Amino acid sequence: MLNVEEGIKHLQSSGAKITSQRVAIMRSLGDRHDHPSAEKIFLELKPKFPTLSIATVYSTAQLLAQASMIRILSIYEKKVFFDPDTTPHAHFMCTRCKKIIDLRANYELKVRLKPEDEIFCIDNTEVFHYGLCSECVSL
Ligand SMILES: [Zn+2]
Ligand SMILES: [Zn+2]
Repeated sequence: MLNVEEGIKHLQSSGAKITSQRVAIMRSLGDRHDHPSAEKIFLELKPKFPTLSIATVYSTAQLLAQASMIRILSIYEKKVFFDPDTTPHAHFMCTRCKKIIDLRANYELKVRLKPEDEIFCIDNTEVFHYGLCSECVSL
């Protein structure tokens, strides 16, 4: 989960200006367990910050992602989604309602690319699954 204090420290150390808009974006990301799109964050904060631009949402998210404080998911070609949960997990997207669900597996992934290679221990992976969610499959 995104810690807003740490987020502010990181943005400061990377030379970004700390504005009330950026703090609001971090708060909004810190408080949630879904995978909001940039547009969703933008529309939620726009009434309070009329001068907010979607570019500010993106640039703030990018700075946070560089510090591994959030993940940016390119699960869907038309939009990016932000994930404040940086623990290793995969994602499922429903192709009908576009809902994104976290998938967790309790396994240690060890991979050899070729038989003679060393074993790589992988501690994070980006896996996207697509299909119909339980609600859409019964429609
Ligand atoms: Zn669905
Ligand atoms: Zn997730």
